[in-house]
Amino acid sequence: MPRPIQASISTSALSHNLDAVRRHLAQAAQAGAGVAPNVWAVIKANAYGHGIEAAVAGFSAAQGLAMLDLAEAVRCREAGWGGPVLLLEGFFQPADLELVDRYHLTASVHTREQLDMLAHSRLSRRVDIMLKLNTGMNRLGFAPEAYEGAYARARQLREQGQVGTIGKMTHFACADGSQGVAGQMQVFRDAIRGLNSDGPISVCNSAATLRYPDIAVANASPAHWVRPGICLYGASPFDDASATAYGLRPAMSLRSQIIGVQNIPAGADVGYGATFRAERAMRIGVVACGYADGYPRHAGTGTPIVVGGVRTRLVGRVSMDMLMVDLDPVPAAGIGTPVSLWGQDGPSVDEVASAAGTIGYELLCALAPRVPVKREP
Ligand SMILES: *Cc1c(COP(=O)(O)O)cnc(C)c1O
Repeated sequence: MPRPIQASISTSALSHNLDAVRRHLAQAAQAGAGVAPNVWAVIKANAYGHGIEAAVAGFSAAQGLAMLDLAEAVRCREAGWGGPVLLLEGFFQPADLELVDRYHLTASVHTREQLDMLAHSRLSRRVDIMLKLNTGMNRLGFAPEAYEGAYARARQLREQGQVGTIGKMTHFACADGSQGVAGQMQVFRDAIRGLNSDGPISVCNSAATLRYPDIAVANASPAHWVRPGICLYGASPFDDASATAYGLRPAMSLRSQIIGVQNIPAGADVGYGATFRAERAMRIGVVACGYADGYPRHAGTGTPIVVGGVRTRLVGRVSMDMLMVDLDPVPAAGIGTPVSLWGQDGPSVDEVASAAGTIGYELLCALAPRVPVKREP
């Protein structure tokens, strides 16, 4: 028998979340007399830990899929995805272009070196590109003053037959916070103003898609594409708003069981470093889940957890393979009682992340390979 820990991935929750995002965009489009954008569902990092194949099934209604690992792009094609695939970091070396060609991938282009590689390529068809502008995040993209030149070079490569459609994209640093997106949008609009307007435009991640949908529904031409990731998995990009507030459902549920019980007297300590001391006699449950499963070690006493359907708290330090919980609110709990670490019947992954000083993204991506994954309809 394997250890009782298991992660369940719900395909219907993935589809539901995509649908919720599309309804949100459709409403914004209606209110602004615009057109709802297309959706590139972001499935990088093994679909935020959910598995590429599950994501291809759950996001079958998306117009495109986006990731950055070429091997993951190939897995999408092998899983039967025939639609557009966007490589968010583009290609890294000339040999990658053979895969871009063979699997008909769209590439983000953010350096002169990538334009050079395209110029020297001999491929069977033109490569569709999204030319990336750095509007202030200072991660990927051409500087605003270099963008016009990069764009002209891309047009030249189109005339020579190496490049197909040329889209324009950028990425927001503060769509989830008080700074917002106005400053970066201004830089974006200024940089593309004089350029040909024929290719697609893509600027919005989850936070911008949920909070500023008007950006993406501005007008029908050129076509807009949003790039939501985290919200499609039922977690929130915001500190100050939960995923359920947007009608999203958790797609990953991490569950385990109680595998040990300790009855301890007042004054007794629990776990490594004795960081928790019982104020009164209490029952402690031992759960088969630790940081080697991807549960955050920085989650301390008080982190919410659901045991036997009852919300209680973690106590003491998380160990490699186990963690301890307060069983006082759950007198009926004993060996074999189900435990929900996060997801459908547990706390949200965002609550656990917040207790550990991080974000839901990190916990979902860090689900350890040793945890058995069960795919649900
Ligand atoms: C990760 C990523 C996204 C999706 O971000 P979320 O916050 O998960 O919605 C979109 N665009 C780019 C370029 C990304 O790297």
